Amino acid sequence: KAKEGGRNTFRFYSEEMNRHSAEQVRLETELRRAVMQERFQLHYQPKLEIATGEIEGVEALVRWPRRDGRMFSPDAFIPLAEETGLIVPLGRWILKQACADVVAINAQRVRPLRVAVNLSAKQFQQEDLEQMVLEALEETGLETQLLELELTESMMMGDVDEAINTMSILKGLGLTLSIDDFGTGYSSLSYLKRFPVDALKIDQSFVRDLERDSEDAAIVHAVCNLGESLGMKVVAEGIETQLQMDFLRQLNCDTGQGYFIARPMPLAQLQDFLAQHQG
Ligand code: C2E
Ligand code: MG
Ligand code: MG
Ligand code: MG
Repeated sequence: KAKEGGRNTFRFYSEEMNRHSAEQVRLETELRRAVMQERFQLHYQPKLEIATGEIEGVEALVRWPRRDGRMFSPDAFIPLAEETGLIVPLGRWILKQACADVVAINAQRVRPLRVAVNLSAKQFQQEDLEQMVLEALEETGLETQLLELELTESMMMGDVDEAINTMSILKGLGLTLSIDDFGTGYSSLSYLKRFPVDALKIDQSFVRDLERDSEDAAIVHAVCNLGESLGMKVVAEGIETQLQMDFLRQLNCDTGQGYFIARPMPLAQLQDFLAQHQG
């Protein structure tokens, strides 16, 4: 009996796995085609300079509109893009498009907006990363100091010296670097002080519960102090309430991002948002 059960279980799993991998293959094929045809959209989420209340920049967030009308969020396809290497051409497109969009927006602004683009681990390891960034800047005419690249702690954990070297090369171009989802990785403080980064983005999981969870509040407080001590700006992500906003303002957190300020939105909507925000 046990044996039979075992066999059934085995068959169940193997069918599951086949179905899963067939789906995976289909998705991969579709993703590859979408990358070749550049069928993605960028949404932009405003970043607020907390002290002045001004919008200082935007973060580009990729979206994949599927043929069936559904919109895929990056969590649903960035891992697959990473695995398959498709993130390299996709990431190149994202960077160029984001730079071009911000150049267009800045043509109508007094204070230029900055743009932050997420970099994936695979991109960070590419030998021609510097070349790719230079190309995007040259082709779009974006001033280098208006570009920010968001890295994650996990990218720096393998070969730390190599990672620091790559970061230094990027810094050498004149752009800014930030560490995204800060606090969720494993980077130690002794490494952090060696990283040539300009900003720490406190992960939204700490911001989400800071009104109810005194430990999260303490962590947010500590990261704000850490940033100040290390001469790095601190950005809080995932701000959804007035209370969170007030708390962060009191801690002298530099920049805020979250639904409370604005959701990520397509370029046309961003133009309207910026016009309203100025007025
Ligand atoms: P991330 O870079 O940490 O981006 C923040 C995510 O939080 C975004 O999700 C954003 O829409 C969401 N968010 C912003 N404010 C709030 C808020 O107040 N509440 C809540 N609940 N969520 C908020 P999204 O756009 O789904 O992106 C998820 C992740 O996918 C990003 O996390 C980033 O790691 C990755 N990603 C997005 N775009 C790109 C890209 O162009 N390239 C790469 N390599 N990764 C990307
Ligand atoms: Mg990010
Ligand atoms: Mg984040
Ligand atoms: Mg994230």
